Amino acid sequence: MKFILSKALCLAVAISLVASVAHAQGKLNVIATTEDLAAIAREVGGDRIDAESLARGYQDPHFVEAKPSFILKLQKADVLVAVGRELEIGWLPPLIQQSRNAKVQTGGPGYIDASLQARILEIPQGQITRAMGDVHPLGNPHYWLDPENGKAVAKEISDKLSQLRPNDRSFFEQRTNDFINRLSEAEKRWASLMAPYKGTKVVTYHRSFPNFAERFGLDVIGYVEPRPGIPPSPQHTLDLINEMKRQNVKLVLVEPYFDLKTPNSIGRATGAEVLVMPPSVGGVKEVTDYFKLFDYDINLLIGALKKVGAQTE
Ligand SMILES: [Zn+2]
Repeated sequence: MKFILSKALCLAVAISLVASVAHAQGKLNVIATTEDLAAIAREVGGDRIDAESLARGYQDPHFVEAKPSFILKLQKADVLVAVGRELEIGWLPPLIQQSRNAKVQTGGPGYIDASLQARILEIPQGQITRAMGDVHPLGNPHYWLDPENGKAVAKEISDKLSQLRPNDRSFFEQRTNDFINRLSEAEKRWASLMAPYKGTKVVTYHRSFPNFAERFGLDVIGYVEPRPGIPPSPQHTLDLINEMKRQNVKLVLVEPYFDLKTPNSIGRATGAEVLVMPPSVGGVKEVTDYFKLFDYDINLLIGALKKVGAQTE
C-alpha cells in the first residue's frame, strides 16, 4: 500500500513537473505602455513572446485614458515595459496596483523601466518639482526618438527576458544584436538624408523631439507650450511668434494629439509650415514598427524642409 501511494505521488509530482516545464516554455506575455516599446520588444522577443501596448501611438502618452481592459491585460502579463521618467505617472500606477499581479508591480520580477540605459536629455538642475505643472520632472521621457536609445531599450528588454527565460538567453541576445545592426545601417541612411538640413531651426508643440533633433541635426528654438504639459497662452504665443520672426524659423512640428488652432495661427503670423509629425509607432497607420517611425518622420520632414526652402549646404 505504502509502495502504491508513493508511486502515485511520484506520478503526480512528475505530471506537475512536466506541466510546469511546459508552462515555462510557453510564450511570455509582454505588455508595453506604448507602441514604440511593444515594437522593440517584438524585435527582441520574436516568436517567444506576445507583445501588446496599452496606449495607442496617436494618443498623448502623458495623458492616456485608463480603461478596465488595461487592468485585465496587466493581470495576465508576465512582463510590463514602461517608458519611465514619470511619462506614465498620470495613468499607469493605479492600473498596476489594481491588477494585483506581483510580477508587474514596480520593481517586480517582470517590471522593465526602459529608460535605465538610455541617454536622457533635459534633466532638471536643482529642485525637482511638478508644482509648475511640468510633466518632465525627471528629464525628457521622449528618449525613444533617438535610434541609439532604441538600442538601449532593446538591451534592457533582452536582459529581463533572459532572466525570466534563461534557456532562451542566446535567442534573445542574437535577435537584439541583429536589431542593433539593422538600426546602425538604417541610421547611416537617415543621417545622410538629413545632412543637408543640419542646423535647421524649428519649433515644436511639446518637448517631444529633443533626442530626435540632437541625432538628426535640427535646432529646436522654442515650443508652442510654455512648459511641457501646459497649454499655450496668448503672451507666450506672441513671444514665440516674435522669436520665430527674428530667427527666421519656417517649420512648426506638432504631435498628432494637439489642437492645431494655435500652431496654425503661428504659421499664419510667421509664414512657417505646420507639420503634424508622429512621435510614436502607430501614430499613423503606415508606421507599424520602429524603423518605419524614422523612415516616415524623416521623409515627412524633408518634404516640408524642401517646401519652405530650408538651408542646404
Ligand atoms: Zn512629454
